Amino acid sequence: MKLSDILSSAEKPLISCEFFPPKTDKGEENLWLCLNELRSINPAYISVTYGAGGSTQNRTKGIVTRIKAETGLSPVAHLTCVGATKDELAALLADYQSAGIENILALRGDAPEGVDRFETTSGGFSHATDLIEFLRTQGDFSIACATYPEGHPESEGGVADDIRYLKMKQDNGADCAVTQYFFDNDAFFHFREATDKAGITIPIIPGIMPVSNFDQIVRFSAMCGASVPDWLHEKMNPIREDLDAVKALGIELATRQCAELLESGVPGLHFYTLNKSAATIAIARNL
Ligand SMILES: Cc1cc2nc3c(=O)[nH]c(=O)nc-3n(C[C@H](O)[C@H](O)[C@H](O)COP(=O)(O)OP(=O)(O)OC[C@H]3O[C@@H](n4cnc5c(N)ncnc54)[C@H](O)[C@@H]3O)c2cc1C
Repeated sequence: MKLSDILSSAEKPLISCEFFPPKTDKGEENLWLCLNELRSINPAYISVTYGAGGSTQNRTKGIVTRIKAETGLSPVAHLTCVGATKDELAALLADYQSAGIENILALRGDAPEGVDRFETTSGGFSHATDLIEFLRTQGDFSIACATYPEGHPESEGGVADDIRYLKMKQDNGADCAVTQYFFDNDAFFHFREATDKAGITIPIIPGIMPVSNFDQIVRFSAMCGASVPDWLHEKMNPIREDLDAVKALGIELATRQCAELLESGVPGLHFYTLNKSAATIAIARNL
């Protein structure tokens, strides 16, 4: 089902789950187990990330195609501008169309490992805004995009830049946006006020990262520009080596965060699952 239809027909806020393509067969086996377990919370869609290298890109295609063909769940394929010409993107999109893949999360993407900055490929695109415009010419896809309530790390003008570009993504044809994760809901509420003022009307779905390994989250957040508030350090630091305790607290905190977001009227919650199902299922049941 198309994302635009899923969002417009949802009677209550939807839950969606993001996975990355595993590098090993064992990892892939685990992914299918997780997807099966997640059926119990009826996810509105499953999105699959797109890596910077060739082999993981093929895995994205393989996984979304199999989700579509075998599970009855609605897949969303992430797609980036990294290392691809327009012709290569057009060929991939044609494959997606023939496989019945209707939903694309359009991104610029990050530089591949070992490369400092994103570089535009000759004959390719520099920004998600351009990729979205191109996608609109390539078939009847429903298009999601990314956005950053605390600002993208490269946005020199801060969040104001991200709001301007989100408006451009909407104008170029994005049907909805999914946010980078954040731990303080106030960041999201301020962002939403500003996007409302800027005339952004597409649904903005908050990204939720249940903490399961605090050290990993601190490292990752420094790279992607999500802030880890002092209160979270204070709660997690005393237990950071006890992974079971971290997971339990992560579920408790994310449940509270999601409850407040739902109360505020968000259209859905997008879980960064890190290819695990337990925390997302526990939080959805708590809600
Ligand atoms: C929900 C979500 C899913 C993600 N999935 C993946 C994935 O599957 N694979 C992956 O590699 N990465 C993924 N990422 C990470 C993402 O690729 C990076 O954050 C990347 O650095 C920016 O991608 P973007 O689409 O937001 O880029 P853009 O929107 O192009 O923004 C990149 C930078 O350029 C600026 N900018 C945007 N548009 C313009 C414009 N028209 N002119 C000038 N400047 C502009 C922005 O302010 C920003 O600083 C994801 C992020 C999110 C939030």
